[in-house]
Parts: sequence; structure tokens; C-alpha cells
Amino acid sequence: MPQKIVKLTVKDVRFPTSLGQHGSDAMVSYYRTMPTRTLAFLRMYCTHTDPDYSVAYVVIETDGGMKGYGLTFTVGRGTEVVVCAVKALSGFVVGKTLEEIVGDFRGFYRLLTSDGQMRWIGPEKGVIQLATAAVLNAVWDLWARAEGKPLWKLLVDMSPEQLVSCIDFRYITDALTEQEALDLLRKAQTGKTEREEQMLKEGYPAYTTSFSTPHLPPWLWSYTDTILVGLWVKHMTIVFIQCLALLCVHVKLCTDALASGWSRFKVKVGAELEDDERRCRLIRQMIGPDKTLMMDANQRWDVGEAISWVTSLAPFRPLWIEEPTSPDDILGHATISKCHNRVMFKQFLQASALQFVQIDSCRLGSVNENLSVLLMAHKFQVPVCPHAGGVGLCELVQHLILFDYISVSADLNNRMCEYVDHLHEHFTSPVVIRNAHYLPPKDPGYSCEMLESSVETHQFPGGVVWANLLAKAPE
Ligand SMILES: [Mg+2]
Repeated sequence: MPQKIVKLTVKDVRFPTSLGQHGSDAMVSYYRTMPTRTLAFLRMYCTHTDPDYSVAYVVIETDGGMKGYGLTFTVGRGTEVVVCAVKALSGFVVGKTLEEIVGDFRGFYRLLTSDGQMRWIGPEKGVIQLATAAVLNAVWDLWARAEGKPLWKLLVDMSPEQLVSCIDFRYITDALTEQEALDLLRKAQTGKTEREEQMLKEGYPAYTTSFSTPHLPPWLWSYTDTILVGLWVKHMTIVFIQCLALLCVHVKLCTDALASGWSRFKVKVGAELEDDERRCRLIRQMIGPDKTLMMDANQRWDVGEAISWVTSLAPFRPLWIEEPTSPDDILGHATISKCHNRVMFKQFLQASALQFVQIDSCRLGSVNENLSVLLMAHKFQVPVCPHAGGVGLCELVQHLILFDYISVSADLNNRMCEYVDHLHEHFTSPVVIRNAHYLPPKDPGYSCEMLESSVETHQFPGGVVWANLLAKAPE
């Protein structure tokens, strides 16, 4: 029986992660403890100083009583703008049946991204693209649930023709045509069953970013403040003790990660060169010469600065430098992440401006657009290493990379999926990591559903978590 979508709701759900410094850029310290002028300094020079990991959380409901869950990731303020954009798109979804949508998924994608009037506020970039991702993620979740399969399995079981029918090839045919995409997918049919079995047994290799952003108490971070900003050099004895403690925390986190089987590590850089050198040296010594180290600069540098900085960090042998400069700077890049659509990825690939493709489940236009990027990356023979972390990004992107291995690339060389160990407890089907590998999800859907209690308490600004925090906040 056709499932008609009769309702779409969207909520602004935020986690006050800035209080614990999860996810902040290299330069940031425990900002709430800082003097105003220090904070002003940091805001001037950092990209993400105080992220409150958040989502615009979408639920679609059918007349048959089924639900699909979707989200897009944000970092706090501004989530209300994405929520607004989702509401503006809801009219394209409500009233349609699931069968209508997936029967012409390319057409539906085009409808959402290329409406004659809405197109002006995109197209396919910024807030409206984040909203598109949230809505389409919910549709894919609903489809996978209707089929009783986890999303990766739904994709793996689709024929090359079906997969290609979900992709909008407009603007990328100079790099990848529909026929080429079909040929790539048909060729990768060989060995699919074996690769699926391998994934179910071993899982997909992951790397960790958690160990380099420790959860430190504010007094400890004040040491970092001193080094980074150079404003507070007063209590040298305390600083010395704090320095030792910081070192111990890094060593402990690194040792724990190694003991848990991690062999690939990413560290945030770009704040202060000496500090980066010190930390990278320490980590390289801890993990030894054979383990993999990556670096992430979070768009900190101009091109020239990036080159000289990276040259100084080269002795520590990073596999990649992530986001060295503006994410839109194609020619200035050696590697990049977080492109906002397939057209940007196309140009980066055509210009040989990246050596690793970092797809994102919530920034690109959902599974549809990610399929086109996975296929382009395969054609250009560039490994895909997904971006994850935040809220739910690990839960979602694991499906895409499992599909990539089983049905597209058939290759694990230099490939790994980012893993960050927080906020998974808010999901009904959280990721399962074993021996530094993502184990394929078994529950039907796209792993987007959050616990009702988490959504309720973290809704902004009315949920109890925020009501309490806002009541305590100074004017
Ligand atoms: Mg990054």
C-alpha cells in the first residue's frame, strides 16, 4: 500500500558542547573562563570558537503510521535559520507518496533543489542545501525502513540503473556522464558478495579525532591560553605544573587509543606553530613511525602561510592536511573537506586540488548527491575518507562508506572513516566500533533517529537543558 507523507516536523536541537570544548578549533581554549579581550582575540582569528553541536531534526510521517527521521548538522546559533529553510521545503514533500518520490528520485531531487523561486537563495549551497540534506535524509531513512533494511544494505541491493536514477547529473557531465556512472557500477558488481561478508565480519576502518581534543578542566586550559595568546604570563610555577598535567593527559589519551586498537590519528593544528610542533612530535613519538597521523587546520591559513606551516610540520609525516584554507579555494588547495555540492567536488577533482575526498552526509544533498561524488572520486581514482563527528555524522556517513567499498571502489587502501566519540548516546541506533572499525548497522533506516527524551530536553530554547542554562547566563 502506498505510503503518503502527511506531516513534516522540524526541531532545533542543541547540545551545549561549548561548555566542554568538544570540537573547537586548535586555537580555542576554555573560552568562558577568559578575559573579554582574550576572547575577542580568539574570535577574530578562529573559525569555530565555541561550537554547540546541534541539528535541525526532521521527522516525516505517513498515513500508514510510518516515520522517517533526518537531520543536518550545525554548530549552534543559526540552527533556527536552517529550521526555517526546512519549513520552506516541506510543501514539496507533504502530500507525496514514498513510491512517487523514489520512483523518480532524480526528479524529486531536482524539484527540491531547483524550484524556480527558491533557487535564488542557493542553488545547492549554504543554508538551503543543509535544509535539503535534512529533508532528503529523512526520505532515505523512511525508504530504508519501508524496505526493512539498513540504508547501506538498501543501496548495496539496488541495481546500477536504480542507483544512477537517484543522481542529478546536471553540471557534472563534463566529469562524469550517466553512462560512465553505470559502467563503473556494473564493473564493481564483481566480488560484491565477498566484500559485503568482509564488512559484516571486520567492519570498515576508522580513525580517531577524539584523542587530540581532550576534555580538560578550565584551570588546565589556562596554560594553553598563556602559550597561545601571550597575555597571562604571571604564575610560572602554576604554569609549569599545568604544563606537566597537560602532557600527562595527552599521553594518557594517546596510550588509551593505542590500547583500544586505533592505528590512525588526527590532530588539530593551525593555532601556534611551536605548540603544533610540540604536540605533533609527542604524538608521533607515542604512536611510532608506522601508525598514520593526519592534521586538520580548520580553514585557518592563507595559501602562503599554509605552505610554510605545513613544511614545518612535514617531519611528523602527516598523511593529509585537512582544510588548510578557504573551502572554496580550488586552486589554493592541496587537500580539502566539506565541499557543499557535487559541482565544487567536480572542480577540485578536475584541478587535481585534492588527494582525499571527504564526503559529508549532512552538507551535501543527502545520499543522492553523495552517490555522484563517490562515483566521481572513483573515476578520478581519489580515495574517499568521510568527514564525521558532530552530532550524528558518524551514524549517517558509515552507511555511505560501507556502500562505497562494497559497490563502488572495492578498495581499502588509504581509506578510513573519521570517528569521534561523543553524543552517540542520544541515538536509538548508535554506531558500533570494534577494534577501530565501524561495524555495519543492522537496524532498518539511516540511523538518524534520536531518543525522544534527548530531543525534548535539548530543544532550543525551551528544552530543560537550555532553559536552565539561559536562566543562569549573565545579561
Ligand atoms: Mg575537519
